[in-house]
Amino acid sequence: MSGTMTDEPTPAAPGEPGACAAVIVAAGRGARAGGDVPKQYARIGGEPVLRRTVGVFAAHPAVSTVVTVIHADDAALARQAVGSAPVHFVTGGASRQESVYNGLKFLDNMDPDFVLVHDAARPFVTAEIIGRCLDAARRHGAAAVGVPMADTVKKTDGKGVVIGTVARDRLWRAQTPQVFRYRDLLAAHRAATGETLTDDAAVAEAAGLSVAMSPGSEDNFKITTAGDLARAGRIARASADPRVTVVGHGFDVHRFGPGDHIVLCGVRIAHSRGLEGHSDADAALHALTDAIFGAMGEGDIGRHFPDNDPQWRGAASDRFLRHALDKVAAAGGRPINLDLTVICERPKLAPHHDAMKQRLCDLTGLPPARIGLKATTTEKLGFIGRGEGIAAQAAVSIDLPDTV
Ligand code: MG
Repeated sequence: MSGTMTDEPTPAAPGEPGACAAVIVAAGRGARAGGDVPKQYARIGGEPVLRRTVGVFAAHPAVSTVVTVIHADDAALARQAVGSAPVHFVTGGASRQESVYNGLKFLDNMDPDFVLVHDAARPFVTAEIIGRCLDAARRHGAAAVGVPMADTVKKTDGKGVVIGTVARDRLWRAQTPQVFRYRDLLAAHRAATGETLTDDAAVAEAAGLSVAMSPGSEDNFKITTAGDLARAGRIARASADPRVTVVGHGFDVHRFGPGDHIVLCGVRIAHSRGLEGHSDADAALHALTDAIFGAMGEGDIGRHFPDNDPQWRGAASDRFLRHALDKVAAAGGRPINLDLTVICERPKLAPHHDAMKQRLCDLTGLPPARIGLKATTTEKLGFIGRGEGIAAQAAVSIDLPDTV
């Protein structure tokens, strides 16, 4: 691309009120951020910085045209970065100021009422920030996003020695976007050719325009260093926060033996027989624990609590369940619901249902509406029907961060 134009923007329809274009400045080399590509093409949260930035403007209802000013060497990189977003590309100049001027000249034919100028390296601009600044510009003629100074500001002698403390109550740190009447900013840039000004508000000020400040945010920072890029990655991942629901299934059987009680869902139930097992033989909690391990891809209960390990002899099975739930919590997850069925001919479980369900609520932290607890028989068929043992099966769903 020589020159500044790669294609022609569509002129606004005659009489369309308040047409507004955005110029995204992406022509810098970004040497301070390191990496293989300029920072505006680095990936944060799975997508290039430029795509994220362009996407906010392309989706904004007040913005009718997006122009992205890029370095002459980056045409392929830029097209790939923005994907399907409707964007006009313009080649930048030797400085940021020249690049913006090229973007503005490209819009000459469209002649929008307002133009927003934004740094590509500020990917966390929001629709609200854009809307507020545009409103301020419509009222005042020009507006720049910024953040009021919170730190005390020191003036030094050039050798790091303080020679004064600057009153901060009227100081702002300027960000972008900055919004201007298009013709005003174009004329101001033309007049400022050859000067070195660091933002468009300064270009406008030099032309005698008055610029109002509009609140931005700390997240609307400019990615400059490798540390900034790492911070941007953290914010992008946190804001994306993709999650999945995983499900697991568990099944367990214990044989009846001598005894005077059984334990189901952690509740002691008097019975003419007991259940054989290495631990307390709580088939219901074993099935539920296995369902959780299954959902987490963590193998089975025997892998975590080997039945030849003497420390689990006679153990209360809520320890196994707590261990599985700790795994869920450590992964940033939480159980959503569970459904448990106990299968036996005797004892009758209806009298114990409420106590068992309450115990499940206490152990899992789930509300009653998220816990299913049923009992059934096998109509006297098979080993359960002959009263040789008890079976339990469980299903569980778990909400997890999608980190796989
Ligand atoms: Mg078991």
